[in-house]
Amino acid sequence: MTAEPKRTDTKLVSGGRGKGYAGRVVNPPVWRASTILFDTVAELRAAHAPEDGRFYYGRYGTPTQWSLAEALTDLEPGAAGTRLFPSGVAAISVALMAVLRPGDELLMVDSAYAPTRTFCDGFLKRFGVTTRYYDPLIGAGIKDLLTEKTRAIFLESPGSLTFEVQDVPAICSVARARGIVTLLDNTWATPIFFPAMAAGIDISILACTKYVVGHSDVMLGSVTTTDQHWRALCDTSRTLGQHVSPDDAYLAARGLRTLGVRLGQHQASALRIAQWLKDQPQVAKVLHPALVDCPGHEHWVRDFKGASGLFSFVLRRGGEAERARFVDQLKHFGIGYSWGGFESLALPVDPHRFRSVTERTEEGPMVRLHIGLEDPDDLIADLAYGLSACEEAA
Ligand SMILES: *Cc1c(COP(=O)(O)O)cnc(C)c1O
Repeated sequence: MTAEPKRTDTKLVSGGRGKGYAGRVVNPPVWRASTILFDTVAELRAAHAPEDGRFYYGRYGTPTQWSLAEALTDLEPGAAGTRLFPSGVAAISVALMAVLRPGDELLMVDSAYAPTRTFCDGFLKRFGVTTRYYDPLIGAGIKDLLTEKTRAIFLESPGSLTFEVQDVPAICSVARARGIVTLLDNTWATPIFFPAMAAGIDISILACTKYVVGHSDVMLGSVTTTDQHWRALCDTSRTLGQHVSPDDAYLAARGLRTLGVRLGQHQASALRIAQWLKDQPQVAKVLHPALVDCPGHEHWVRDFKGASGLFSFVLRRGGEAERARFVDQLKHFGIGYSWGGFESLALPVDPHRFRSVTERTEEGPMVRLHIGLEDPDDLIADLAYGLSACEEAA
């Protein structure tokens, strides 16, 4: 028997807190630095620039960033390392740039986060990379879309507006057999609910802005890779000058310690509210991966260890005005972008605006909820009042 931490909650508490990073204090402190001082010219000459975990120059980080990266790597069995980025979008862009070359073709899931599409259709296109979109529920059928030029497949599971759960292992095994790289935006589940590398993913991406930070006050992204892609990711992110402030890394590390208990509560409250909403006469459909009628629900059952606090639902009647009235009525739900913090949010969403190969079947207006850490009874009372107000208006 070894005393090395193995189980997730233990890893969340102990990750990145070795004496080399923390000394005698509990939390690895904030090391702010541009210049790193050397004792002698000989020592300066002997230092190597891009080497994680070694002082060289502020852009290459300090123990504050290294310890957070190490803690995130620990959560993903099979990973070689993690690099941090100033936002989730920066993490996605740099990960794609690390694997793609002019002339390559990228297969992108049609339910992807809208700014991911923008990066592909604009920037990547300008640099000679072609993006083709695919149905999130395609599974092993993705093999019919592969060409000689297909270099990478990007997944996001579930989609963050419509919540289709992808058959990640099936897509990964098709990709592996052809030497194609797989990248996953794992922001919704995090490695706590979906260990990506164990499912066959090569490159796992998190918008840490959401659940890792967990307090709606920091922008941050991370990319974790297998050994095979680690060098390319490091070279690309360093060449592009990617760097994260040590203060932000500190706050993300603080958020990470409670990620397990927060996700447990987000899961319990969101599931209860999703089930309650499903029974309301004003609601046509609830899109939550743990509910049986969610597209890809069987993959969620098979592959996931839990469900986080974000889901959508569709109102049976009304349009833009009724939806706005409903959202405006809510007292405990903020109106705004992002999610994953301790607080609840409600957002009108129109996913068909960001689709090219799959149609939306729901008729009514859609609302996305992030269920925070408030008492779920208060949230249900709030939603009930909002629904009755929107019914009166309709
Ligand atoms: C928010 C989000 C991102 C982008 O993260 P930022 O930190 O806001 O750049 C990427 N993917 C998903 C699924 C997200 O929800």
